[in-house]
Amino acid sequence: MKIKKYRAETMQEAILKVKSDLGADAIILHTRKFKQGGFFGLFAKKMVEVIATVDQDNKKRKESKLSESRQANEDNILKSELSQMKHMMNDMMGELKNKNQQSLHLVVNPSLERLIDALWTLGLSRKMARELAEEIADKVDLKDLNSEEIKDVLREKLKKEFIDIKPIELESGKTKIISLVGPTGVGKTTTLAKLAARFSLFENKKVGLITADTYRIAAVEQLKTYSEIINLPLEVVFTPQELLNAIEGYQGYDLVLVDTAGRSQNNQLHISELKGFINNVPIDEIYLVLSATTKVNDLMKIIEVYNEIDLDKLIITKLDETNSWGTILEATAKAKKPLSYITVGQDVPEDIKLPESEQLIEDILKGLEL
Ligand code: GDP
Repeated sequence: MKIKKYRAETMQEAILKVKSDLGADAIILHTRKFKQGGFFGLFAKKMVEVIATVDQDNKKRKESKLSESRQANEDNILKSELSQMKHMMNDMMGELKNKNQQSLHLVVNPSLERLIDALWTLGLSRKMARELAEEIADKVDLKDLNSEEIKDVLREKLKKEFIDIKPIELESGKTKIISLVGPTGVGKTTTLAKLAARFSLFENKKVGLITADTYRIAAVEQLKTYSEIINLPLEVVFTPQELLNAIEGYQGYDLVLVDTAGRSQNNQLHISELKGFINNVPIDEIYLVLSATTKVNDLMKIIEVYNEIDLDKLIITKLDETNSWGTILEATAKAKKPLSYITVGQDVPEDIKLPESEQLIEDILKGLEL
């Protein structure tokens, strides 16, 4: 405990000194008046003396009280901020809930869902079906799901955006070399035979055949049989050099069709082999052959893999086996390549068509049931 002595002419002055030195918590221990200076009691100055101290514990208590009250104050501010935040959160949650309910309302919009399902059964992916359905919903009232109205919107859209059909175009005096690629079993060899017959028998073109599909003996035999029936020359090649020689051997021909070995789209080695095979020879156009019976997801994967080769056009086979002609839309959209021929049966040569776009759209839409 610190004890100090203060002297001043008046009590107020002394107390002021105490306060300014020891603070407001100073405790006065003793005061006295005395006389200072003078001569034998004459002319002496009246003075005041104050002895004071400060209660440190009390000061600390006060300080801690002060900090307690500050803390309490801060706590109160925090509490009120928290409660404000809580309110804000509640409001936000309310809004979110509202929005969710709205989108939930969209998701369970039964008419829209029915339309998506209907488009899906056309052979479209769920994604394309939803996108199309939402576009349709912007244009027509889905309440009564009027098929004709919906088909009209689709017709317009398909005409503008999807259907680009390009046949094999021959130039006189030039040999066009076309190669068919695609997974095994999709109908490449059969399609090649159909095209060969179409151009040689119906269009009087000079057609030569080459098969590099030597992986399966049956494939060579199959094309050999067709070539004999249609009476066309067939070369069987095992290497890119042999393929080059065979192509050179067909000088003066209008059309040379090259069959390639099909393997699973998961066989990456095959794709690079195939690339090596056809990139080293002067092939004019490469057609990817796809089956309409393939599941959309697999079809997407096949296209992704074969797009590594510089594809020109698509041929879609086996449309006679399915009502899901929408796969044509998925395939052309994914590959970003035009469609050329479609095949609709096993018979050579008749089951191949160069579709006419309006008819094709009708064929795609005929499967639409609402
Ligand atoms: P590749 O392995 O791709 O050469 O396929 P293929 O030409 O050997 O054909 C495989 C099977 O599909 C054969 O049984 C063909 O008759 C059949 N096929 C080919 N095109 C069509 C078609 O358009 N419709 C139907 N239903 N079957 C087809």
